[in-house]
This record gives sequence, structure tokens and C-alpha cells, in this order.
Amino acid sequence: MQRPKITAIKPTTVTVPLEAPLRHSNGAHWGRFVRTVIEVETDVGLVGLGEMGGGGASAEAAFRGLEPYLVGHDPFELEALRFKICNPTASLYNNRTQLHAAIEFACLDIVGQFLGVPVYDLLGGKLRDEVEFASYLFFRLPNETTGEGEVRTCEQLLAHARALKQAHGFRTHKLKSGVFPPDYELELFRALANEFPGDGVRFDPNAAFSVEEAIRFGRAIEDLRNDYYEDPTWGLNGMRRVREAVRIPLATNTVVVNFEQLAANTLDPAVDVILLDTTFWGGIRACVKAAGVCETFQTSVAVHSSGELGIQLATMLHLGAVIPNLALAADAHYHHLADDIIAGGKMTYRDGRIAVPTAPGLGVTLDRDKLAQYAELYRELGGYPYDRDPARPGWFSMVPNTRWADPTVPG
Ligand SMILES: [Mg+2]
Repeated sequence: MQRPKITAIKPTTVTVPLEAPLRHSNGAHWGRFVRTVIEVETDVGLVGLGEMGGGGASAEAAFRGLEPYLVGHDPFELEALRFKICNPTASLYNNRTQLHAAIEFACLDIVGQFLGVPVYDLLGGKLRDEVEFASYLFFRLPNETTGEGEVRTCEQLLAHARALKQAHGFRTHKLKSGVFPPDYELELFRALANEFPGDGVRFDPNAAFSVEEAIRFGRAIEDLRNDYYEDPTWGLNGMRRVREAVRIPLATNTVVVNFEQLAANTLDPAVDVILLDTTFWGGIRACVKAAGVCETFQTSVAVHSSGELGIQLATMLHLGAVIPNLALAADAHYHHLADDIIAGGKMTYRDGRIAVPTAPGLGVTLDRDKLAQYAELYRELGGYPYDRDPARPGWFSMVPNTRWADPTVPG
């Protein structure tokens, strides 16, 4: 049988609404996700799907620029793909790690469809049929249209967490923080943990704290049922200092996102849990390789979310299905989305878990009407600055941060 060859890459930028704007220590997702969906076409009629996004901007032009590199490429040749567009020294000029990830997703999708097997079967086979997720709570501004959805006060946070647990069955609760003064967030995080005493909790201020603030805060939550304490401060050396002073495992999706950093962390540990992101690491296969290194050195892993629609979520599910050392719930922004662009609508959580797709390839297909609808919405609204907060004009984040939002001011 003739092996497929890539003939074209078709990027489409979409904007999908969120229930409400999500605040974080560096800014916000302004009420919507901007994602670039790619369709990689082949000469055998198979089309592979990929997705990229996160920073509020379109990546269409970057994908168009890659097309001449990839026309004629055999999607089975995944190691060659890596060097064709991600050679580490050539990448000093053009870092294409995240573009590579989206192309890799699409190639795995094509190979899976070509062979009639799900992507997890290309990665060693699935060890679980569903992947568990955390609730991933954010401080939220009110929805611009409805005025609903704000999360700022303790009452709002607990009501939101209870509603999510009721709807989706989450058994671990992550608070994305670093927005309000640390003492305020400490009070709310402790209230959250006490609301669900049998459940796990995670606190993630996205490296906003100084080392000393991170130690003070960490010591004040040591008695809680912490899965881990995520990126309390910036840098491997900062994290190492916090790790020496706080008796909670430290996690990162920030300072160990490639193999050089993983090697540094292995030789001189600063982080206990590596949060693997299929985009940040440059693909599903890089995450599987990293999970193997972590398995060898008994460093823990979990699955990170950099924001996703259904295609990217499928990559996280296939990753979660195949890595043996996944003992912690994954993260997803997914339940904050109002809709999705995959056929059949949003995937559903059952008992805090999402089923791993079993159809050939990634196991998801596009809803053409939804794709067109949300491409139009992108044309209408354009991008947004992920590293700014619409509620704080003129503010920008620093590391460490000391300029917090005022929790008494409604969004
Ligand atoms: Mg994080």
C-alpha cells in the first residue's frame, strides 16, 4: 500500500467563547480562547488534525511558512520531522517547538487513520480507558454580556467549586492564583481545602511569588491534602530553595519543559512533579519520552493544560492513556469553554474522568459548521493580549510580583 505524503497544511484560526474571563498571575484569557486548528492533507485523501494556541494570537502565518518544508514528507517519519523543523541549533533563530507539536499531532492522526488504530496504539498501547482531571479553578471576571460567572470572593469560589464537583465529579481541586494578595489567596485556598476534606488540592501562582513569599505560603498550607505546590516561584534555583524549606512536593510546567532542563533537574533536583504539556514539549512523543526518563529516576509526572479545544484535549487523553507513571489527575481548562469545534460537541466528564477516544488516529473529527462559526468570530474580535488583565489597565506582571489585584473591587 502506498504510504501517505503531505500535500498541504491548512490553518484556521478560531475563537471559542469561555464562560467568563480567566485571570492568572500574568494577565487573563479575555473571555475566549484563540486557537489555530490545522488540517494536514495527504495524497491518499487522509487529513490529520492539529491545534495550537494559548497566547491570544493566531499562528496561521507561521504554519503557512512551514508548508514548503513539509510538502512530500511521509507522516510516519516523525524523528525526521523533528529535525526538519526543530533542529536545536537551527532553532536558535526560529523556535518552532510548538508548531512542531501541532504538526506531530496531525501526523500521528494520519498514521493512526492509515493503519486503522488509535494514536495510543502507536505509543505503546493504553493502560487506562479514561483519564482523571482536576477541577482547575480560576479567579474569573464577570462574563461581559451576562454579568455572570465572576469568581473573586470566598463565597463565589466555593460555590463555583461545588458546582463543578456536582456537574463533573472532580476529586481534586486546583486553584490558579497569583492574582490577589497572598494572604487573601491563602484564606481562600484553605477554605477550598476545608470544603472538600477528602479531596486533593493544588495551588499554582504561576511563579509570581518571591522565594521567601513562596516559603512562607508553602509552610502555611503544609497541613492540607496537597497533591503538590505548583510553580510557587521562578526558576530551578528558586524552586530548589523552596523545596528545601517546604514539606510539599513541588510541581512545574514552567522551568522543566525540555530535555536539557529535565537533565538539570535530574542531576540536582528542584522539582518533584513534571507537568507534561503536549504543546510546550513539542508533541505527544516528547512527553512520552520525558515520562520514561521520569519513570527511571522516580520523578513524578502529570498532564498539563495550556488551554485546549477537543483536538488538543485528545492529545492529552492519548498521552494520559499510555504513560505508566501517571498517578495524579490531569489539568484541563476545557470545562470553562462554552463550546468546541469537534463533531459531537464537547467531550464529557464522568466521575471526574474523560474517556480516551478509541476511533483511529486522534479519534476526533471537525464539526465544519462550528469551525466556520468560530473562524468568523475570530475575524470579528481578533486576538487578545494574554499577558494583560482587562480589569487592570496599565498593569503588567513582574517576577516576583508584588502588585496584586484588589479583591474588594468587583470586575
Ligand atoms: Mg502551572
